[in-house]
Amino acid sequence: MSDIRALLEISHYAGRDLLLAQGGGGNSSVKSADRTRLWIKASGLRLAQLREGFGYVELDLAALVALVRDPLLRAAPRATAHAEAVRRVQAAVFGDNSLRPSLETTFHALLGPVVLHTHPIYVNALTCLAGGQALLAEALGVLPTWVPYAAPGYALGVAVDQARAASGEPAPAAIYLANHGLVAAGETAEAVIAATKRAGALGKRVFGALAAEALETMAPPAGLAHWASELAMALQRLAGWPAGAAVRPTCYGALHGAATEPERWLAAGPLVPDDVVYNGRRVWVAPAQMPAARWLSAQPDAQGEAGRLVVAVAGRGVVVAAASEALAEAMEATLLAHVLIRRLVARRGTARPLAPEEVAYLAEMESERYRQAMVGTV
Ligand SMILES: [Zn+2]
Repeated sequence: MSDIRALLEISHYAGRDLLLAQGGGGNSSVKSADRTRLWIKASGLRLAQLREGFGYVELDLAALVALVRDPLLRAAPRATAHAEAVRRVQAAVFGDNSLRPSLETTFHALLGPVVLHTHPIYVNALTCLAGGQALLAEALGVLPTWVPYAAPGYALGVAVDQARAASGEPAPAAIYLANHGLVAAGETAEAVIAATKRAGALGKRVFGALAAEALETMAPPAGLAHWASELAMALQRLAGWPAGAAVRPTCYGALHGAATEPERWLAAGPLVPDDVVYNGRRVWVAPAQMPAARWLSAQPDAQGEAGRLVVAVAGRGVVVAAASEALAEAMEATLLAHVLIRRLVARRGTARPLAPEEVAYLAEMESERYRQAMVGTV
């Protein structure tokens, strides 16, 4: 089971660093030496949760490769192809496992023996920047293996396969996913960790380092806890909000700071799939002086976001409301990454948000909803 040691090593490396992975985002896999099996992080779990015998799923590698390269699926409408791919990935699982394989299993199957997919803040500043691909090529001195945006799941698997074929490299060590993240692949855990570090260091060189306090937590700003408790009481009166919902100011100082210009840093639109998966179609902005109950009663669409809501109270700070504490933590880590990416992007240009139709598609994806639900249960 030395393969599993490599899986745990890369998972824990990325899982302990908020700059690399937030919430249940990112995933890891290894393949058996005879290339018949693949072990991958289970959907919805955090990378840091993987242990020997827990948190990963074993799959039939040949079935996965056949799935990504099936010409019939490639010709199908994307929602149909995605649903069929989810079914076939699940069918490729060995043994009786209540966990589901990562939604991104498809692209893992196509790459080297060890694969680590992360959502690094410094790399995503490049992948979410208008003109980021050219800036990356300039910084690297060679053309990067770059994958145009594709929805997670089947579509991303196909896009990675095509980008790899077009790159001319049989086994690129680093693959950049537009508006999404990084995939590092290699022969060993060490090689994959080194490739992840190189990509992050490159982004840091391009944009400059984040402020030292970027990831720091703080006590909530004055009055915000009161606003959050009023919101909690108002949400309790709505259908769809469980009694034990977590409604509170975020713990991150960078998010409260961003609320001074909420439309610019928080509510300018999702940049990456996890923005939608964890925080919904949008971050809401409430005027500073309006009581929470009155604000909510005037927002029928916000009321409909059962189980998760992010509200920037202008000039004061950010409040998260979630069906569980675990989901609240995943939401605020994802939002922190969003704000820090926007701060880095602003140093070099403008952000390229996800297209509205992509946001709508993500919001509907059944398996992404499952992943979001899993965060609250494990
Ligand atoms: Zn991802």
